[in-house]
Amino acid sequence: MTAAFVSAESVHEALSALQSGARPVAGGTDLVVGARQGKAALPERIVAIHRIGELRGVSVSDGRFRLGALATHAEIAADSAVRERLTALADACSIVGSHATRTHGTVGGNLMNASPAMEVGGPLQVFDAEALLRSPTGERTIPVASLATGPGSTVAAPDELLTEILVAVPPDGTGSCYARLEYRRQMEIAIVGVTAAVTLDDGKVTQARVAITALAPTILLVPEAEQALVGSDGGAAAAAEAAAAAAKAARPISDVRGSADYRRAMAEVVARRVIDAAVRRANGAEVSVPASDALFAAAGGAP
Ligand SMILES: Cc1cc2nc3c(=O)[nH]c(=O)nc-3n(C[C@H](O)[C@H](O)[C@H](O)COP(=O)(O)OP(=O)(O)OC[C@H]3O[C@@H](n4cnc5c(N)ncnc54)[C@H](O)[C@@H]3O)c2cc1C
Repeated sequence: MTAAFVSAESVHEALSALQSGARPVAGGTDLVVGARQGKAALPERIVAIHRIGELRGVSVSDGRFRLGALATHAEIAADSAVRERLTALADACSIVGSHATRTHGTVGGNLMNASPAMEVGGPLQVFDAEALLRSPTGERTIPVASLATGPGSTVAAPDELLTEILVAVPPDGTGSCYARLEYRRQMEIAIVGVTAAVTLDDGKVTQARVAITALAPTILLVPEAEQALVGSDGGAAAAAEAAAAAAKAARPISDVRGSADYRRAMAEVVARRVIDAAVRRANGAEVSVPASDALFAAAGGAP
């Protein structure tokens, strides 16, 4: 079967196509590559959105980052403001697929594909990011943490287009980190991923967020891990307690990449290292981006 394909020049045109039953394609690195690999057939109707200028760009103004849905992983990873203030997101976007995947794959496509192993989900959740969904009849803003409902599914209606992601600039004194356990450096997805963001004031953690990736049907925030950190000095004891809570919250599956027991055991190890790196960054120490290289480099992935 051949797919009917249109290319939209504006959000208005894209929404009209969605109303007639078309599915959006941005970089095509999930939709088209998946179809070629036989994972799922191409939809009958497709609307290409990559020419829509208003969906592009990464900017920061009035205390808020705006990531256009079409911002690519490469653009986000290279953005100096993202690297400084949303460092965990830079860690994540720097390790998606290969160079080619990062220059074509978009943040919007990554979120809407809703893989439990998606790279950007944990970082965006720890920063309390919001997603703007537009439809032919209006628009709504929802927390990124509420977007995915399971592997490959979201709360978005078929006629809703994700147009941008909004993130408040984290307070001064915030450090963040995302790292994944992987078997090789490129063209890999997370076996286990953890994100942490901590805000330090006068040596005490005043705010903390921890999210686990590839450990449940959707990426999860772990309030118990956050509680273990807030009020502490962010040192080894608090990091260990928070990491144990992160591992306890995991509901992993067994698959070709690892057993559920292995994932749960590694969740604690990855969480401890990630929380420690976030605290070090909050204290102004240099932990290079991507953190996965810095935290797991010597073993080529396995801790
Ligand atoms: C070789 C390879 C390696 C990869 N490695 C990684 C990896 O390491 N980590 C990782 O997280 N992912 C990885 N991926 C997956 C993929 O590259 C990312 O998920 C990418 O960000 C998807 O973006 P896209 O623009 O290509 O999405 P598309 O393929 O264009 O779309 C993906 C889905 O989102 C929908 N969609 C896209 N944009 C919108 C929008 N604005 N509004 C509503 N719906 C929309 C589409 O309809 C489709 O269902 C890899 C893919 C390949 C092929």
